[in-house]
Formats: sequence, C-alpha cells, structure tokens
Amino acid sequence: MPPTLSYLPKTPWLDRFWGLQCPLCEQSGRAGELCELCRSWLQPLVDPCPGCGTPNTLTLFCGRCQRKPPAWRRLHLAWPLTGASRFLIHQMKYHQDYATARALAGLWWSQMASKLNLETDAFLAVPQHRTKLDQRGFNQASWLAKLWSRSAAVPVWQGVRKVRATPALEGLNRRQRKATLAGVFEVTQPVPKRLVIVDDVFTSGATTAELSATLLRAGVQTIDVWTLARTPLGD
Ligand SMILES: [Zn+2]
Ligand SMILES: [Zn+2]
Repeated sequence: MPPTLSYLPKTPWLDRFWGLQCPLCEQSGRAGELCELCRSWLQPLVDPCPGCGTPNTLTLFCGRCQRKPPAWRRLHLAWPLTGASRFLIHQMKYHQDYATARALAGLWWSQMASKLNLETDAFLAVPQHRTKLDQRGFNQASWLAKLWSRSAAVPVWQGVRKVRATPALEGLNRRQRKATLAGVFEVTQPVPKRLVIVDDVFTSGATTAELSATLLRAGVQTIDVWTLARTPLGD
C-alpha cells in the first residue's frame, strides 16, 4: 500500500491542473517531481541480476541466467513493484497520468544514471496491439521511451508492430507464454544496430524475450532493456 500522508496540505487546484504537485503525497510546489519524503519510499533494488532483475545477485548473472543467458546485454530496472512504486505505476497506467510518468521517469533517471550503459542508437517502446491502444488510448511504454530519449539524447524508433492482441500471461507456464507470444511482433523498418527496449514493468520477461528474438533475427546486434520496476515473483 502507498504511504498515507493525509496530514500534508493538499494541492491548490491550479498546481493539480498543471501537474506541479508531488504525484504521491500531492504536496504542492514540487514542479511535478516526487518530494524528498516520497522519494525515500522508492529505494532501488540492491544488485539486481542484469538478466532477470533478481535482487541481491552477488555474481554478475544469477544461476538461472548463467544457465540460460537472456537475449539482452543488460536489464536496467530500479524498483520492486511494491507499495509506492506499484501505486504510482498504476496511476500512470490506468489513470493515464502523464505527470506521474514524468515524475517516475525523472526519479528513475536520477537514481540509475551512473549505472546505465548509454551506448545505443535508439529506444523502442514495447508495442501494443491497436485494439489495446484503442481501449486505453495510449501506450505507457511510449511515454517512458520519449521521456528517457530526451534525458539520454537518443532518438525513439518505431519500427515494430504488434500483429495481434494477446491474453494476459499470468497463470501460464513458460511454454504456454512462449506459444502465446510466438510471431506476435513484426519489424516494419530497417533496424538500428543497438537498441534499448523500454517497458514499464518487467514480469516474466516472456514478452521482452519474444521481442528481442524478433529484433535479433532482423539484424539488431545489441539490446538493453530499461523498465521502471519488477514484479516480486516474476519468474
Ligand atoms: Zn511527496
Ligand atoms: Zn537472472
């Protein structure tokens, strides 16, 4: 659950309108960034595995990623999807709250900048099928890709399309997830050599794996993955 901070003064309506308050406690005068107290609720994962994000990985890759290396060079993610991060990502995703996306992308960048590998040619947001876009009206991964593209001065590339809608992957085993996603992405433009795949949350990694496989087949040479958070039991 997000922290309860109702004793703080609520935002004047104009700040709320312009998205100038802290998106978590709604204290005003924060230029849309998370305030110091709320930042302290979002502590980065310690030593996440660069393959799957499992925290406290003392070797470079966890045992499972050593046995079956991922298609990407490195996964960069900041937080476990719990408490404050879960609340804010939910707010961004299901309430189409761009101010929250901006605050999250900004905090992520300030906490992660020193660890990032910026040797890349472009950012690619994990594409959604158009029926999903019609329902929700936006792709939260595209927001993050655009925001990080500005921070990193690297362009966004939109050369992949999702050719069919897929059901939720929760509850499916690894093989079923793979079968559900097979052939779901299609490359529509010449590919950059080095790419960063951007998504809001890393769960099982199945979607990222399918997208990466498609990109590598199309000629991409190195892939990094940037996401805000990781589900605690993603496997
Ligand atoms: Zn706050
Ligand atoms: Zn791993």
